[in-house]
Amino acid sequence: MAPQGHENKMKQQPIKLYDTTLRDGSQSSDINFTLGEKLDLLSEFDDFGFDYIEGGWPRPNSVDEEFFREASKVRLGKSKLVAFGSTKKIRGKVEDDVVLRSLLESGVQTAAIFGKTWLHHVSNQLRATPKQNLEAIDETLRYLRDNRINPMKEVIYDAEHFFDGYKDDPDYALRTVKQAILAGADAIVLCDTNGGCLHYDVGEIVRRVKEFLHSDEGIKGRSVTLGIHAHNDSGLAVASTIEAVRAGATHIQGTVNGFGERVGNANLNTIIAVLALKTPYRLPKAIRLDKLTALSQKVYRAAGLRPREDQPFCGEKAFAHDGGVHVDAVLKGASYQHIDPTTVGNKMRIVLSTNSGKASVMGIARSFGYEVDKNDPRLQSMLDEIHQKCAEGFNLGLLENEHELLTLKHFGEIKTEVDVRRCDVTSHYAKYEGSIEHDNSCILKVRLNGKEYKVFEDAENGPVAISFKAMREALQKAGLPTNFRLVNYEVGLPKKWNVGAEAKIQVYITYVTDDGDLITTSGFHEDIVVASRESLIKVVLLLANRQRSKRRTPNRAAIG
Ligand SMILES: [Zn+2]
Repeated sequence: MAPQGHENKMKQQPIKLYDTTLRDGSQSSDINFTLGEKLDLLSEFDDFGFDYIEGGWPRPNSVDEEFFREASKVRLGKSKLVAFGSTKKIRGKVEDDVVLRSLLESGVQTAAIFGKTWLHHVSNQLRATPKQNLEAIDETLRYLRDNRINPMKEVIYDAEHFFDGYKDDPDYALRTVKQAILAGADAIVLCDTNGGCLHYDVGEIVRRVKEFLHSDEGIKGRSVTLGIHAHNDSGLAVASTIEAVRAGATHIQGTVNGFGERVGNANLNTIIAVLALKTPYRLPKAIRLDKLTALSQKVYRAAGLRPREDQPFCGEKAFAHDGGVHVDAVLKGASYQHIDPTTVGNKMRIVLSTNSGKASVMGIARSFGYEVDKNDPRLQSMLDEIHQKCAEGFNLGLLENEHELLTLKHFGEIKTEVDVRRCDVTSHYAKYEGSIEHDNSCILKVRLNGKEYKVFEDAENGPVAISFKAMREALQKAGLPTNFRLVNYEVGLPKKWNVGAEAKIQVYITYVTDDGDLITTSGFHEDIVVASRESLIKVVLLLANRQRSKRRTPNRAAIG
């Protein structure tokens, strides 16, 4: 659809991107960034090209206070670091306000201050009169702007619960905005704090605020940026943000991967990709669109979370194809994708499942460098094994290192022998008066490249760990690869009929090599030690093959 008239005009205005992953994003119940992780992400966000990075709320003796102290030593390129805080206490003085003092002492030159818009909150939460709230907004912003010791160069005013406030009493909501502008706010950010507003209402209200800024006698002519901060409680945060941009907002707040409390904030990844690839609006020149997927994965890793595979643009499934007809068409160049995945740093992937046909297997083999035609008998043998594994309940799906191993196996490239002849693992537990005894041991007999090795290990850290330790010792003796360590371990029950304590389980283990490559391999067995060992043997076979052939296969960037 061609851009509408007003969109053509709007496209001339550059959008400012404001990332609040480190503040609002870290309010998610499963995210707790350490100081080091926050500092790492600060550099990542700066490299990516955000205009603003909200670092946190520098309250006394908090991690965020320490963060701002350390962040002041980091030289940022284009991004401005922002400290977050609230308007002063209603019955207190600005000079005595601990939050405002910590903001001024945080070393930043840009502050974001949130204040009340909704009279319901003014009276019931602040226990203040409408006038007292306006005074709090006014005094707070002036104090930060005109402070004699460290005046803020830029103040962003976040109008909390703006849309609820506007629907309840538009005159008062606009009066708070006007007060913030008169007190020196450079940007007014309209917040859908509870995520309850419908996207078309957000667009309409932003449009009316824009008109107010242009028409009100007291403030018209002032240079003020209008922004949007949406939460995703109705599943509409991205849509609301896009609607706000169409209505004239040029400052977008959100978080990488949509992290945030409850169900999250507006997902910046999606917003950036949509605006850049599907609308005429101008994003900051510094934005590295082709690094979007890598950024998404780095933030997941920092948060200790498994990346969401179904995330638009950046997820592993975003451009994944299953089923023979689709894959065949895509390999022949037919368009089954809404954008070129490489523009956002992602790629087309082939899913292996019971639906897979020869086209899928051929696509996989080609991706690892084998030029084959569809009559190659190795494709059929590989396809037979895929169908057999999937029928047993093994999930091959998007496990690229499993795809790689299958290809190597059927194309005769596996030259390393790892053959476990015996493995006795014990788990000893005994409770005595006042103490518990727990230890594990492992006797391992394994043939490695034609020679048999026998190893005994004991320790206290669990049956999987002790069996890995024994295997590692044997591998070292045989000169086979041990240049990797385990970084993620997950267990899945692949089929709903496969339940109960006797169920076959699939383990997904991610290793990082000394070169920083991530490899995820999987094992499938009723015995978790056997399943884990299956994964371990696979990573050894892969690395041995890579060493032997000196052919580095493409790195699977995401943790599976
Ligand atoms: Zn928020």
